[in-house]
Amino acid sequence: MLQLAEIFYSIQGEGAFSGTPAVFVRLAGCNLSCDFCDTDYSLKFFAGVAEVVAKVRELGGDCPMVILTGGEPLAQRETLALIDALRSDGRRVHIESNGTIYTELPQDVWLCVSPKERVDPRMAQRANEVKLIVDERVPEEWLQLFSDKPLLLLQPEGNKRKNVELALEYAMAHPDRFRLSLQTHKLIGVR
Ligand code: SF4
Repeated sequence: MLQLAEIFYSIQGEGAFSGTPAVFVRLAGCNLSCDFCDTDYSLKFFAGVAEVVAKVRELGGDCPMVILTGGEPLAQRETLALIDALRSDGRRVHIESNGTIYTELPQDVWLCVSPKERVDPRMAQRANEVKLIVDERVPEEWLQLFSDKPLLLLQPEGNKRKNVELALEYAMAHPDRFRLSLQTHKLIGVR
């Protein structure tokens, strides 16, 4: 059984697919415990893989994009079975991960890694998208690990003014490689 926090239909508010309708499956639990974390990923219910796929269909209809998030969605053993079942149901699976747990993912799965205290280098290499959290500073310590990525997203923590300014300044100073990623869902008051 999967441990879940919530399943809902909304839009992807941040990153490369910002503005895209998507069903979110928030898996419960995380293997890290970041100071600034404001996500409620506590366990709310259990469900089997088929039940989750059915719920995605019920909420999102034909919506092609499903985002597995958390907490850390790759921390649960059954997540791979869920990914396969969603792909078989015709969904494009995106994963939002802290990149600490090495997992072999199908090629068509979009992996967004947002590094926190550590990252498995294999997950860094596999990442399709990298979101660096700007929290009073740009975390330049990750640049070497992601040196093969042509584009890095700078996401101001909590949309705070100071963090937005820092991210903006950095992106404008390095326009070839960095892009600002705002949490637009928070700006417009949706989940
Ligand atoms: S890795 Fe993400 S979900 Fe987990 S504690 Fe840190 S910010 Fe929260």
